[in-house]
Amino acid sequence: MCLFSKHLDNKPGDRLSSCKGLMKPIQLEYSSKKGYQIVHECTSCKKMQRNKIAFDTKQEDDILSFMTLNLPY
Ligand SMILES: [Zn+2]
Repeated sequence: MCLFSKHLDNKPGDRLSSCKGLMKPIQLEYSSKKGYQIVHECTSCKKMQRNKIAFDTKQEDDILSFMTLNLPY
């Protein structure tokens, strides 16, 4: 599924992580300042990371199906 990403960063954007594990989307968060963010957890090292979602892209459909299918509430 396209919402998976790779563990490339120690801090967002720095591409310094040597982990390269698969980041699994586990949660969706909404902040009025930053908008929707996906929380990813690395399947290798369990590090959690937030990624902003651009809602003007094709990703929107994926987010909506993710919300419908995977959220516990
Ligand atoms: Zn990792």
